[in-house]
Amino acid sequence: MKISVVGAGMGGLCAGLALRRLGHEVRVYERVREIRPVGAAISLWSNGVACLERLELGDEIAAIGGDLRAMAYVDGLSGETMTAFSLDPLMQAVGHRAYPVSRADLQAMLISAFGRGDIRFGTELTDLHEGADGVTAVFADGTREQADLLIGADGAHSVVRRHVLGKVVVRRYAGYVNWNGLVSMDGAFAPVDRWTTFVGEGKRVSLMPVSGRRFYFFFDVPLPSGLENNRADYKALLRAYFGGWVPEVQALIDAIEPETTNRVEIFDIDPFVPWVTGRVALLGDAAHNTTPDIGQGGCMAMEDAVVLAEALSRHDGSLDAGLQAYEAARAPRTRELVLKARRRCEITHAADPGATTRWYADLRREDGSNILDGLMKNILGGPLS
Ligand code: FAD
Repeated sequence: MKISVVGAGMGGLCAGLALRRLGHEVRVYERVREIRPVGAAISLWSNGVACLERLELGDEIAAIGGDLRAMAYVDGLSGETMTAFSLDPLMQAVGHRAYPVSRADLQAMLISAFGRGDIRFGTELTDLHEGADGVTAVFADGTREQADLLIGADGAHSVVRRHVLGKVVVRRYAGYVNWNGLVSMDGAFAPVDRWTTFVGEGKRVSLMPVSGRRFYFFFDVPLPSGLENNRADYKALLRAYFGGWVPEVQALIDAIEPETTNRVEIFDIDPFVPWVTGRVALLGDAAHNTTPDIGQGGCMAMEDAVVLAEALSRHDGSLDAGLQAYEAARAPRTRELVLKARRRCEITHAADPGATTRWYADLRREDGSNILDGLMKNILGGPLS
């Protein structure tokens, strides 16, 4: 088939790679000329890593992934370690490492694997028309491209979703703002092989190792949507939000560079179907926009890509059956994770302060087994486990 993929994010590029391996002719169309991801880095859990390995990118992801070995929660106000444990048992049990990775590195890896020449950058989809013979993509520059199948991997504000559902979906504000970026690795912030999360007051500060001796950091603060966003204020605001927090957090705020720090209001979308029409399928955030509270949004996009290719291959000869099989396999899995992330988000960010206080008490009793069990369920629920 001739396949158009709209969006060169991690979902679109993984779909492109997976579909091309089946022998399809794939072209990716990307709105921007240069991709500037909304986040500095991402935790790729073992289910996402398994998908990249399936796409023969195992060595590449290992080369750019951070050396993550352990996990800890620390009381951000007192400095007490609430729980700390190794992640080795998890990775051994599921058979794949997990890698925190800089988004720029991940994006560059996927673009290079797919081939820059097969991506049309600066090409924004504005409309599409389906017919018996094919689907026509209409772009902002006036050009049109016909294909047998169009994949909408165009992210949270998907134009293709509007076509599939026949309406615009309003995203739901999750109640918090996230600042994230990269900073030179420094043991003064946290141990360098550990995912450390400082918690308190419904806020959190997290640090994870990525390659190049850098930490991925993020700060979460429950806040209303629509506040002013001035880069010049970031440090002063973070100092105010985290006043009285431990020296490690103050040192991190001192070290961050506002020019390269991202500020993101966090939204999600109620799970929905359908994801497919006759010749069009949604994939990634276009199909299931989640809060990042269990670190699964990008991993789910990679799973979609692998499952879509497998479903089309299994139903070779019937595009309709292939697309229906894809939706049937993916909608329940992603629904579960989106709702799980939403519940996690509410507890972490004090939607109900009593529940958050109980969670902090649970963390003090935690030996790692409950958290590892939750992570394992997320991973083993994936298609390649
Ligand atoms: P995107 O990455 O959004 O890519 C969509 C692409 O489509 C973009 O390049 C865009 O420019 C392009 N596009 C949009 N409209 C058009 C158009 N009309 N025409 C052409 N091109 C178009 N996930 C994890 O797995 N682990 C994490 O730790 C994690 N942390 C996160 C932290 C934060 C703060 C946030 C906000 C998200 C996080 N996620 C995480 C989620 C993850 O970033 C997304 O799920 C993932 O980026 C989705 O990939 P995608 O390819 O579907 O969409």
